[in-house]
Amino acid sequence: MTFGKKTLSGVHAPHNKHATEDCSAVRMPVPEKVYISMQQHMGAPCKPLIAKGDTVCVGQLIGSSDAFLSSPIHSSVSGTVTDMIEIINVNSVRAVCVVIETDGKQTVDESVKPPEVNDTAGFIAAMKASGLVGLGGAGFPSFIKFNPKNLPEVDTLVVNGAECEPYITTDYRTMIDAWEDVIDGIAILQKYLDLEKAVIGIEKNKPKAIELLREKTSGMKGVSVVELNDLYPKGAEKVIAYETTGRVIPAGKLPNEVGIIVSNVTSVAFISRYMKTGMPLVEKTLTVDGSAIAKPQNVTAVIGTTYRDLAEFCGGYKAEPRLMISGGPMMGTAVLSDTYPVIKSNNALLVFDSVDESQLKETACIRCGRCIRTCPYHLMPANFEAAYQARDTAMLRKLNLPLCMECGCCSFVCPARRPLVQTNRLGKKLLAAEAKKTGGKS
Ligand code: SF4
Ligand code: SF4
Repeated sequence: MTFGKKTLSGVHAPHNKHATEDCSAVRMPVPEKVYISMQQHMGAPCKPLIAKGDTVCVGQLIGSSDAFLSSPIHSSVSGTVTDMIEIINVNSVRAVCVVIETDGKQTVDESVKPPEVNDTAGFIAAMKASGLVGLGGAGFPSFIKFNPKNLPEVDTLVVNGAECEPYITTDYRTMIDAWEDVIDGIAILQKYLDLEKAVIGIEKNKPKAIELLREKTSGMKGVSVVELNDLYPKGAEKVIAYETTGRVIPAGKLPNEVGIIVSNVTSVAFISRYMKTGMPLVEKTLTVDGSAIAKPQNVTAVIGTTYRDLAEFCGGYKAEPRLMISGGPMMGTAVLSDTYPVIKSNNALLVFDSVDESQLKETACIRCGRCIRTCPYHLMPANFEAAYQARDTAMLRKLNLPLCMECGCCSFVCPARRPLVQTNRLGKKLLAAEAKKTGGKS
């Protein structure tokens, strides 16, 4: 990685945002049933705190864990718990799922009230109670990110408004429709984390958002807006940190180690709303788009809504759905059915017809080297694939697979349509399984 020499590469991915970028999010009615997964975040799953037959209210805590790396789960609806089932989440993790038959009343739980926050410790406790995780897709518990061991050395908040993934426009709509929440969230983070500076990074293909936030933050001390090139993946954590501050996060290190906290813009807006209302994270806005969707739009849905209900709300399928992606086309996960429920980290559902699907058929690697030349970290995706197929974990480590940020640039440029990013994920799982078995010795 040679950020210092400005040799950062990437791809010009078609933005394909035209169908939804002018669409403010539409709130979808609460479905008859929701499926709330106990694993919606990076870290340990939650244990259900309710049982079959219990009645629940909106915002009620229904899942928690004693593990440090975890995030509580709240009910997104009022109704009755009718079942507990095991599912495979869209993030490929097996999890207990609470099935709730909704009563249509959306009665708010009495525990929901604005948090009393007077200092940093109180703010971190509030962030934990809110159930906030990185809403850009990573799902990392925010209260941990906001409380690094070296917090006094951290001076800058980087607000990630790049939204470089094609098709997705939910962060863009947050910046346009909820700019007050964004700037209030920035002020809250600056105050409680004692951050001198805040930089909002936005790709130049969103001129309205850049202009609006520049105007609205002009009187805020230490706050600036940086226009980023629209070269994917400008929204990757290390990339946006460098582009907005000039600081390089070394391999294997975290942003706090160079004095930065990075937060997605929609997460920042949520913080403002949570501090005012105390309503935890129980709904999510997703871009629903793709050639098989009748009416592409941005939809705010309660967590646990199925993809099928989301698609039906968008007019259903106008062609046979042949390829379904949870998330964007670069970093998202192809899913086999529309029965998956929405989890906190989902930001898009894309459904494509047979024409689009036929363009994605994979063939054999032709050793062209494009994937290697394109990788922003100068990794060797074609070699990862060979090493993974041979289950050669020593080689995967030697090739620095853990550095891969799963941006998908390699898959995007591959003329053979090799599923390189998916293979990288499987390779990382193989390394994690091996580390678990050997207690980290390899
Ligand atoms: S997914 Fe990983 S290997 Fe592929 S381009 Fe991105 S960082 Fe490089
Ligand atoms: S871009 Fe695709 S075809 Fe070319 S070397 Fe990489 S994996 Fe092989």
